[in-house]
Amino acid sequence: MKHIYLDYNATTPILPEVLKEMLPYLKNLWGNPSSPHWAGEKVKNAITTSKERIASTLNCDPDEIFFTSCGTESSNWVLKISNLLSAKKNKNIITTKVEHDATLNTCQFLQKYCNTDVTYLDVDHKGNLSLEQLKSSINEGTILISVMYANNETGVIFPIKEIGEIAEKHGIPFHTDAIQAYGKIPIDLKQIKVDFLSISGHKVYSPKGIGALFIRKGKELIPFIHGGGQQRGLRSGTENIPGIVALGKSSQIILRDFEDMYSQKLEKMRDSLENYLLNEIKGLTINSDTANRLPNTSNICFHNIESSALIKALSYEGIAVSAGSACASEKESYSHVLKAMGRSKMEALSSLRISLGRGLSERDIIFSAKKISYWVNKLRSFSPQQ
Ligand code: PLP
Repeated sequence: MKHIYLDYNATTPILPEVLKEMLPYLKNLWGNPSSPHWAGEKVKNAITTSKERIASTLNCDPDEIFFTSCGTESSNWVLKISNLLSAKKNKNIITTKVEHDATLNTCQFLQKYCNTDVTYLDVDHKGNLSLEQLKSSINEGTILISVMYANNETGVIFPIKEIGEIAEKHGIPFHTDAIQAYGKIPIDLKQIKVDFLSISGHKVYSPKGIGALFIRKGKELIPFIHGGGQQRGLRSGTENIPGIVALGKSSQIILRDFEDMYSQKLEKMRDSLENYLLNEIKGLTINSDTANRLPNTSNICFHNIESSALIKALSYEGIAVSAGSACASEKESYSHVLKAMGRSKMEALSSLRISLGRGLSERDIIFSAKKISYWVNKLRSFSPQQ
């Protein structure tokens, strides 16, 4: 049976080029980069090269890149340390209701254990937030604005440039979780006023267990992880060299293949998948602002079916799709993102996230679209509401 993977927002396979580049660092180049001898010397440069490659994709300085163990760590670092560093009395953090759990659960931790007030901005039916609500939420205690670049479930892109300008005007540091946006849309840190930006390797065809945090020069952040003083004392722990090399290579590929691979090809495939489904299935809703989303992501409510049954049926056919965030799928009764967008529980439980990536062909898309419409119509025929 052919396996078709349509869940690239959950994770991505390691690209052969990335694997090839990292393999020597799992075999012969095993030195500790902090060692003062040949074994260390051989791997030290790998860190520099990787930072340069990441910095080129983001248009920032390589010295502004710090490696972490994952995107979750990057965001925890900013949120918890910003909270710790602030001398303000009644601390307030502004974020949104639709962030990933990496942000939401960290905010809840700060509310519970540090007495920090957190403002969760609303989103509308299409998944967009209101800049007016953001402006009116800022108060004397606001120590940080943390708003994701693009949503992992719906692909909706937030107005990061405008938010950066508002944050700067009020002198408030601004963090963005760019874990889904990185590699899918251009990010230019010279054009946007972001102070901290989180990325993750396994969303861009590198292995799991590597992330990075951009810290704008001049912005204050102290270590979250203490130890041997690696990475200029800001993030201790012996560096994950194979992971760092991989993320650097993925970043080089992002820049090289951007026009062809990400902006155009994926968007075209996503749109043809949606058009096929819209033609073949009655009463289907796209759960997002279709004019303002990542080129690879589609979130669709099929109504009158349970998406969990559809996911199982499609998996049996070799097709991998999901209902939302892979991290949340075990514990959540239904998507907090769709709930914030005003969808009913029934609608949320009838929704599917399809996220495309490299290696897919038009044939895979049409094959999958046919299987999805077959199973939606079949499952609907069993539904008492039909
Ligand atoms: N933020 C977003 C938007 C994500 O999609 C994810 C992963 O799904 C994360 C954070 C967590 O990243 P990581 O798995 O690298 O910790």
